[in-house]
Amino acid sequence: MSRFVLVGGGVASAATATGLREAGFDGEIVIVAAEPHLPYERPPLSKEYLAGTFAVEDFRANPEDWYAQHDVELVLGTRVEALRPAERRVSLSDGRALGYDALVLATGVRARTLDGFAGERVHALRTLADSQRLGERLSAGRHLVILGAGFIGCEVAAVAAERGVRVTVFEPEPLPLGRVLGPEFGRAIVDIHREHGVAIRTGEVVTAMTETGAGLELTTRDGEIVACDELLVGVGSVPNVELAVEAGLAVERGILTDEYGRTSAPDVYAIGDVAERLHPEHGRRLRVEHHDTAVKHGGNLARTLLGHAEPFTGQHFFWSHQYDHNLQSLGQLTGEGETVIRGSVEDRSFAIFSLVGGRIAAMVALDRPRDVLQARKVMGVPHEVTAEQLADQDVALKSLLPRGAGARRSEVVR
Ligand SMILES: Cc1cc2nc3c(=O)[nH]c(=O)nc-3n(C[C@H](O)[C@H](O)[C@H](O)COP(=O)(O)OP(=O)(O)OC[C@H]3O[C@@H](n4cnc5c(N)ncnc54)[C@H](O)[C@@H]3O)c2cc1C
Repeated sequence: MSRFVLVGGGVASAATATGLREAGFDGEIVIVAAEPHLPYERPPLSKEYLAGTFAVEDFRANPEDWYAQHDVELVLGTRVEALRPAERRVSLSDGRALGYDALVLATGVRARTLDGFAGERVHALRTLADSQRLGERLSAGRHLVILGAGFIGCEVAAVAAERGVRVTVFEPEPLPLGRVLGPEFGRAIVDIHREHGVAIRTGEVVTAMTETGAGLELTTRDGEIVACDELLVGVGSVPNVELAVEAGLAVERGILTDEYGRTSAPDVYAIGDVAERLHPEHGRRLRVEHHDTAVKHGGNLARTLLGHAEPFTGQHFFWSHQYDHNLQSLGQLTGEGETVIRGSVEDRSFAIFSLVGGRIAAMVALDRPRDVLQARKVMGVPHEVTAEQLADQDVALKSLLPRGAGARRSEVVR
């Protein structure tokens, strides 16, 4: 009987296990997970769970009893410490060794840390435990400083401000998320946060931290001292590639794979945040940290493992929620091509498209869910559109679907 070992207890592993069982695989599935929890979804950690509106049961990848019912072995609170591809074997931190017929590396990323910024009052946000600990410290009237106005920094700022916490965000760039999403978005995000009382200090850097009896004292590059109660370091992530590197697999910004998720070692696959995967439509390898992609990688890999290999060609989709605003992106914004704005930046209801050779290559939208839904259908099929059509709000995006594309629409939006 075949044994598939899935390393990591995130949604990518959970989706692989689900896909395998749904397709009728009756061999052994073992998930080895460093965290002590059942696989769960991370997006609520900086949103609903931190705000106190979701309980853990609300965002598990599968119901608690699913694993036993589907005969999936969970080895929780245990790390895979070594991989020996030549022997098809992994060693676990509990002293066991496991042989495999296929091994899936879904080890994700961890929060980047900053030297000199550690201690009881210093937080990162990657795990359930991180979110729990931070949430316990967010009582009204306290002062939270956030280093980095990326998605996690901005989402936590929104939740904390809504909980009555005083929030200051330091962002070295002139605009938050400007490099990823463009200046219109960056400015809208700054304005939205400022209206909610968050002090966003762009172009400023905190260089040092000292603990005082009462809290923390931060020193800015300009020599200003800022006192606070808690500090969140939200300065990006580091892929968990060590296992792959030590096993001699090809690794660059992530574990390198082909379009099927195959790494450079036989029967070893990598999916989710940790994988730098060849995307046939982009013609290059991409590593993205998107919930939706991690889940889809899992489903796609299950088919590959069962002999129905197909390349993963889906659009990358990401969302963020801050206050009552919804931000969504599709595709990869690379700054290439023509930029087209649809809607009103002033009213904070707009989408920005990247148009390359008459095709929508990517889009990002603020409070335009319908545009995103319709653009997703258009982007999923060969199409040709003009900047004028995209910018004209009287032209429904779905009307840009080429004739005869209807048959493929359901496939694209499933
Ligand atoms: C706070 C937060 C908010 C987010 N919000 C959004 C959002 O709104 N929208 C969105 O699209 N994406 C969001 N993301 C990103 C999304 O959660 C990730 O893309 C997704 O979790 C990736 O899943 P994964 O299974 O690849 O990896 P992970 O979820 O990182 O899971 C990997 C697991 O593997 C474990 N592991 C690592 N090494 C080993 C080892 N050697 N042995 C055993 N286990 C190991 C890790 O501990 C971890 O539990 C958010 C992420 C965070 C942290």
